[in-house]
Amino acid sequence: MNGANPQSAQQEAIGSQTVKAYAAASPSSRLAPSTIRRRIPGPQDIQIDILYCGVCHSDLHQARNEWQSAMPTVYPCVPGHEIVGRVVKTGGAVTKFKAGDLAAVGCMVDSCRRCVSCRAGEEQYCDSFPTLTYNGEDKHLGGVTYGGYAENIVVDEAFVLRVSDKLNLAETAPLLCAGVTTYSPLRHWKIGKGQKVGIVGLGGLGHMGVKFASAFGAEVVLFTTSSGKVADGRRLGAHEVVVSKNTAEMKKHELSFDFILDTVSAQHDLNVYLELLKRDGTLTMVGAPEKPLPLAIFGLLPKRRQIAGSSIGGTRETQEMLDFCAAHNITSEVEVIRAQQINEAYERLLKSDVKYRFVIDIASLK
Ligand code: NAP
Ligand code: ZN
Ligand code: ZN
Repeated sequence: MNGANPQSAQQEAIGSQTVKAYAAASPSSRLAPSTIRRRIPGPQDIQIDILYCGVCHSDLHQARNEWQSAMPTVYPCVPGHEIVGRVVKTGGAVTKFKAGDLAAVGCMVDSCRRCVSCRAGEEQYCDSFPTLTYNGEDKHLGGVTYGGYAENIVVDEAFVLRVSDKLNLAETAPLLCAGVTTYSPLRHWKIGKGQKVGIVGLGGLGHMGVKFASAFGAEVVLFTTSSGKVADGRRLGAHEVVVSKNTAEMKKHELSFDFILDTVSAQHDLNVYLELLKRDGTLTMVGAPEKPLPLAIFGLLPKRRQIAGSSIGGTRETQEMLDFCAAHNITSEVEVIRAQQINEAYERLLKSDVKYRFVIDIASLK
């Protein structure tokens, strides 16, 4: 019908380019080489040739449609939201970047920009839900957005971050999700000197949580299910490491924590952590397991404890975190892989066998 849908007419008018990527075709498919379309940069856009992309456990949840009820996956799915690369093209209205600059993209590529959260730079809490870097609605080409397991990405400059050329780039990529997702709640709950903080799980998020909590001056205790990670936990900044299967060790910490950050990706017992909180202590969930977790209300009431959630971080705080990392020489511990190793990396994530973030060298895609 002539002119009936101005949005699709606009989408058709936008040119696109074909780009190599790694995609999942269905919840049970292995990720495989594929091609996707990216828009030709518009006036506000930046085209970034991707150098490294971190592998978040969310990529696995999403590729396998494990968050079906909250965020159903549209296929093909190209995951990846820990992106660093080099700017190759800029639109005419771009002011923050020029060709040749380093640049980074995290979990979001747009938002409504008008609601209270967006105006506060907390676009992750946008009233209209932010446009996620992958599996979001592509407002330009139609269909869904595709993430960083790809040769390049085109993003509005408002959602592009600056990264320091002093930090190792592969080790910087995970800061864009694992970094800010742990930095943000630790800042929000004003974690610092004089507080006892627990980090649950030593994976991608957890190891950044240990680094940040210790950099902020807190007394940090790491809870891990992997006895083989005890020495690393201490090296990364934990003052004490508790193997959480050891009930006697857990009991020693009852009623002693101000704050606990739970980064676990799978089913586990939250209630044992509530018992470790002091009066008015907070357990904040950043881990996002597939299924609901049972909560014993009597773990909360007698000590006025709180349970909370936190989602990634906004553009303002992501930049603040990247600048903090550059100033304090903080990066992620990574195992760089080729794109062809992604399925094996997912299997290792499921076995908690990651030290402590897989990062894809995107040169392997070309
Ligand atoms: P990851 O690297 O796989 O780490 C998860 C860690 O959890 C594992 O290394 C393991 O640590 C622990 N763990 C795994 N299975 C467990 C079990 N059954 N019981 C107890 N502990 C277990 O994952 P990640 O990339 O850090 O992501 C963690 C979770 O956060 C995922 O669910 C992810 O989707 C979510 N996430 C949320 C946000 C947000 O905005 N809130 C952002 C990014 C990611 P140990 O070996 O030390 O026990
Ligand atoms: Zn992530
Ligand atoms: Zn908004």
